[in-house]
Amino acid sequence: MKKINFYSGPAVLPEEVLLQGQEAIRDFAGMGLSILEISHRSKEFVRVMDEARALVKELMQLKDNYEVLFLHGGASSQFFMVPMNLLGDAETAAYFETGRWAHLAMEEAKNFGAVHVACSSKNENFTHIPKKYNVPAGAKYLHLTSNNTVYGSQFHWWPEVQCPVVADMSSDIFSRQLDFNRFGLIYAGAQKNMGAAGVTMVVVNKELLGNVKRKLPAMLDYRVHIEKQSMHNTPPVFPVYLSFLTLQWIKKQGLKKIEERNIQKAKSLYDAIDASYLFEGTVAKEDRSLMNVCFRFSKEAKKELTEEKFVAFAAEHNIVGIKGYKTVGGFRASIYNAMSEIGVDTLVEAMRDFESRA
Ligand SMILES: *Cc1c(COP(=O)(O)O)cnc(C)c1O
Repeated sequence: MKKINFYSGPAVLPEEVLLQGQEAIRDFAGMGLSILEISHRSKEFVRVMDEARALVKELMQLKDNYEVLFLHGGASSQFFMVPMNLLGDAETAAYFETGRWAHLAMEEAKNFGAVHVACSSKNENFTHIPKKYNVPAGAKYLHLTSNNTVYGSQFHWWPEVQCPVVADMSSDIFSRQLDFNRFGLIYAGAQKNMGAAGVTMVVVNKELLGNVKRKLPAMLDYRVHIEKQSMHNTPPVFPVYLSFLTLQWIKKQGLKKIEERNIQKAKSLYDAIDASYLFEGTVAKEDRSLMNVCFRFSKEAKKELTEEKFVAFAAEHNIVGIKGYKTVGGFRASIYNAMSEIGVDTLVEAMRDFESRA
């Protein structure tokens, strides 16, 4: 029986994407070959790459000065590719330190220029997103993490700044309607909300490129990938295909519908947490993530109640992946686009059931 998958990433994928992916491994586009066996230069695959990029442009309603790339190296490689391409040695970039990934992105930038911490919630264990921030005049860009996967907080507003905003949207890409044109650069590892591990989407306003003096290795230069249309070397063919399928699945529903469903799913879960004496949320209410719902036992819970007990109880209800991040503890239910309402309802029921027995 298929489990209800709350893992934070790699994460749940739409059933129809998995089935189409399976078929492509057997026989891709009627070629009599597996997608794993063909040239990335074949017209069949070039079409996938082109359409995937076009779908991103369409879904985000991007203006003509934006380019869409599918790259190797995970979102973590963007932590250094962004400053490498955008930040001169003598320049400053501002960073919002709102979680683990935000912190790691900031640390990497220090290798390439000056980093200014615009704000940080580190001392409060990242339980909220600071509303007060300071971005120096002349900052080359401001980097933020739109959804903090580990701690379960999410931006529901955007800072007003003079410089371009770079956003790591790895864990909430295509989960809601946004004015994507307000960002200078957006990146997202595919394995949370738009496919499988192995490919990272980058959307960049090309006017920001070409201003740093340092020499860049070709593979780490956005301009090379733009010029070669993400085909400078062999792209991760199958992950790109899965992203293409996921993008089609997203388009079929539309971002508006997807956002409404995500709001509803998150509400069910947060309402259950707030109504419970046993569980409590861990993040400031106004910053709660629609994607990663973090909670823990409240102080009223009996001392002998261990987190393992609830994880095991949930497993009996076919639920997997709700253990919190290793350094955070508690529970985390990741409810990305492909998580069904029924999946969320099952978790809510398991929580109520568990509470009534605790
Ligand atoms: C998972 C995640 C990352 C790291 O992604 P990799 O593809 O493993 O490098 C970076 N940022 C955010 C917000 C994430 O959720």
